[in-house]
Amino acid sequence: MLRARAVDGLAAHADTRHPKEAMQETRAYAAFEAAAPLIATNIARREAGPRDVEIDILFCGICHSDLHMVRNEWGGGTRYPIVPGHEIVGRVRRVGAAVTEHRVGDLVGVGCMVDADRSCADCVEGLEQFCPNQVLTYNAHDARSGGVTYGGYSERIVVDAHFVLRVPENLSPAAAAPLLCAGITTWSPLRRGGAGPGKKVGVVGLGGLGHMGVKLARALGAEVVVFTTSARKRDDALRLGAHDVVLSTDRDAMRRQHKSFDLIVDTVSAQHDVDAYLNLLRRDGQMTLVGAPPEPLSVAAFSLLLGRRSLSGSTIGGIAETQEMLDFCGAHGLGAEVEVIAIQAVNEAYTRLAAAQVDYRFAIDLASLRDG
Ligand code: NAP
Ligand code: ZN
Repeated sequence: MLRARAVDGLAAHADTRHPKEAMQETRAYAAFEAAAPLIATNIARREAGPRDVEIDILFCGICHSDLHMVRNEWGGGTRYPIVPGHEIVGRVRRVGAAVTEHRVGDLVGVGCMVDADRSCADCVEGLEQFCPNQVLTYNAHDARSGGVTYGGYSERIVVDAHFVLRVPENLSPAAAAPLLCAGITTWSPLRRGGAGPGKKVGVVGLGGLGHMGVKLARALGAEVVVFTTSARKRDDALRLGAHDVVLSTDRDAMRRQHKSFDLIVDTVSAQHDVDAYLNLLRRDGQMTLVGAPPEPLSVAAFSLLLGRRSLSGSTIGGIAETQEMLDFCGAHGLGAEVEVIAIQAVNEAYTRLAAAQVDYRFAIDLASLRDG
């Protein structure tokens, strides 16, 4: 999820004094300012309406976007208090009278969106992630409650049934949680870029998104090469499915990959040299940015002109596409590599995430919030 409109929410402060709908109290972890640690608090959520699903959250992944948003790194869109979390897996606790697609007890997921207008051209095409009236899972204006949306670092969430995904029961709920953002964000450009047999795919950055990109590209049948700045991740990259690993600081190793890629998916969260990767594309090759560094990236025109290459971007995926990805992961037994933590360890986890010291996704066990 991305900047201003997308990831991020140019939301107004929650005003729960005059809510438009009946509300319930829910325990959560929130940041009250950019430099402050997240702490326990109570938030108000709406009671489930006729089309709503109320979910007891089991696990929530920690995406780097949560960190960008909490620290207000994307141009001032963050409103406090913020309850992050958009990699949510839980069990259905209650459904509204008009909900037919989910039942109490089902294993379900919620990703980066909780609503959209469902009538614009993007929604009609199943591309809710581009809807101008899309409502993000946290830090977005919530017309239903009149306040701000709060994410998955919480006990429960109430979401319109259309935005609730079915999670295959054969997946571990903790490993499935990151699929709701890291999974779909890499799946979408891989599918659009035709990743499969006979295609050479590069994945730049072996973090939460990158490691899912490797697993998915390999399962789709592509030849997969990881580019990392972390020499210690080499063996893991191979174990996760890469055919080769390149240390991006090694100039000779980079040169050996010259003009050989059909598709490169760039997941890097910070400033880096985009030209170095564009020059690894074949003629008509495509590089897609999914990472969202706060500062602008520079591109040399000749990196694109020579070889008729393209540079594109991609943000999460539509609801139908997200379900397709989850079903694929169920069929192939694919989940994220997770380090499960208690919510009380979230601030330490953020420090490690900022330093690229995560192997490869934190998943918060929300039982720790109920019991803690
Ligand atoms: P992450 O787990 O922190 O992974 C990012 C990886 O980038 C790191 O593990 C590291 O990989 C590499 N990296 C970090 N700093 C670097 C630097 N200074 N130079 C070069 N490489 C560096 O983060 P994530 O959760 O995967 O998210 C990655 C980015 O995607 C974030 O900006 C996030 O906001 C964005 N995002 C976008 C969408 C979307 O819809 N487009 C969705 C989710 C997240 P190595 O150690 O292997 O080098
Ligand atoms: Zn995310």
